[in-house]
Amino acid sequence: MARRGLLIILSSPSGAGKSTLARRLMQWDPTLSFSVSATTRAPRPGETDGVEYYFRSKPEFTAMVDGGEMLEHAEVFGNYYGTPKGPVEAAMKDGRDTLFDIDWQGGQQVRNSSLGKDVVSIFILPPSIADLESRLRSRAQDSDDVIAGRMAKSRDEISHWAEYDYVVVNHDVEQAEAEVQTILQAERMRRDRQPGLSDFVRGLNREFETRSFG
Ligand code: 5GP
Repeated sequence: MARRGLLIILSSPSGAGKSTLARRLMQWDPTLSFSVSATTRAPRPGETDGVEYYFRSKPEFTAMVDGGEMLEHAEVFGNYYGTPKGPVEAAMKDGRDTLFDIDWQGGQQVRNSSLGKDVVSIFILPPSIADLESRLRSRAQDSDDVIAGRMAKSRDEISHWAEYDYVVVNHDVEQAEAEVQTILQAERMRRDRQPGLSDFVRGLNREFETRSFG
């Protein structure tokens, strides 16, 4: 019997290095399933439909919500973002863990859903606000107005840090990745997540009974 898959939620203000971390975690453990969100925002250069996001029109997005296809959805920066439910349920059934890059609103909804007991939530903090701003600017894809909006949203996002199970400060991406790996390894070893354990211990007891010890 496979263990139930975990729902690993990564949230952070944009620019705190969450996408890089998510990418590295997917390389570290190729059995992880990345939850590809649907969004109404326009693709950035280099983004491909179905890889980073499913890029959808507002009517298409609304139809998915109305059809009950979304595990959660929220408005971020004036666009809609949401998590399609089907792939998450399929991964859980196979005992595969799913990684989510979603904001605090999505985190709250998934935590409060019927799947909440399998959620492990991790908040990534930047080492400083100056660092956050410079990472946002170095993307060089957004205008000053957009950057200012993102910094305001960052403050709001950070205000939700205490709702998460774990917090990692991203001083250095390798260290932050190692910390997230440690969290996942420990969560997978929780007694209630190891399905064959009772049978295994029963086997140990049978062995006790068939042996004598001096
Ligand atoms: P970006 O537009 O920079 O890719 O993402 C903006 C924000 O939306 C990020 O904080 C990201 O985590 C969040 N986000 C992406 N997908 C989802 C989703 O499916 N649901 C929610 N609630 N937030 C999302």
